Amino acid sequence: MHPFAYVAPKTVEEAVAVLDKHGDKARPLAGGTDLLVQARAGRFNLDAVVDMKSIPELVAIKNDASGLEVGAAVPCYQLYENAKLSAEFPGIMDAASLIGGIQVQSRAGIGGNLCNATPSADSICPIIVHYGTAVIAGPKGRREVASEDFCTGPGRNVMEKGELLVSLKFPKPSATFGAAYERFIPRNEMDIAVAAVAASVELSEDKKTIKKARVALSAVGPTPILAKAAADALVGKSADDEAAISAAGVAAAAAASPISDMRGTVEQRKHLVEVLTKRMVKKAIERARN
Ligand SMILES: Cc1cc2nc3c(=O)[nH]c(=O)nc-3n(C[C@H](O)[C@H](O)[C@H](O)COP(=O)(O)OP(=O)(O)OC[C@H]3O[C@@H](n4cnc5c(N)ncnc54)[C@H](O)[C@@H]3O)c2cc1C
Repeated sequence: MHPFAYVAPKTVEEAVAVLDKHGDKARPLAGGTDLLVQARAGRFNLDAVVDMKSIPELVAIKNDASGLEVGAAVPCYQLYENAKLSAEFPGIMDAASLIGGIQVQSRAGIGGNLCNATPSADSICPIIVHYGTAVIAGPKGRREVASEDFCTGPGRNVMEKGELLVSLKFPKPSATFGAAYERFIPRNEMDIAVAAVAASVELSEDKKTIKKARVALSAVGPTPILAKAAADALVGKSADDEAAISAAGVAAAAAASPISDMRGTVEQRKHLVEVLTKRMVKKAIERARN
């Protein structure tokens, strides 16, 4: 492994300055569960890793009436061990509690998962269906990017030289909001999704009609996919309308553009997307009602 300097800045501005100075030769370190594995495999030729966990803003969780803001280096366990967050952001918790195992979850977070931009990453689709926004800081200041626009290809994202992810912001869910995420893997844990789906719904006050919906697909394209046609099949329909839920499943499968590889075929993955979409929409509705 190429030797590199370890830098632990105390502010976002200091971190941006180091990243800007080194360009491709420096990378942010959150939990390190992707970065260090990749560095050891020789993917990078780093001069410096820049530790995000010494920056207070990046390890902070703020949850108030305006919504939730999760620092980019907050580890998964701090999310799912918080009962209030778990109740309000169930889709995110589904992902945070299945990334790796307990050891991985005690270091890794949804910020690192998003920045790594793997098509099969478990938290990106839940972030999307919870209407997450990425707060990015860089040499030119701060900007915000909708989570569905953040990934640009396998392992690639919208961040430019010197930029880092500060936090993820989520609007406060209404009392009739529900979300869910599930992946298909051949083993029960510690595996990469063959296909996965996150869904969210917001129901009317009487909890009978779907007012808003989102469906996002993982591991079935070069980036996570926001399946708009699947959501359109649900909006305005009764939450008990089986035909609408089936139509959402069919639309989601049509939006998937998987490849065949050692983990699954195109046909299997599209079938999984249809099944998982129906299942996740029903689970999101059930959670919204309860
Ligand atoms: C044993 C094992 C099991 C795993 N299981 C799963 C799994 O089930 N599901 C899954 O999705 N993943 C899994 N992973 C992959 C990994 O754990 C996750 O992607 C994790 O969420 C990464 O978070 P991290 O904080 O460790 O990121 P890091 O490794 O620190 O960073 C990941 C990437 O993002 C960049 N980065 C980090 N923070 C920032 C920032 N603030 N701004 C800009 N760029 C940043 C880094 O430079 C790096 O390129 C597993 C990994 C291991 C080793």
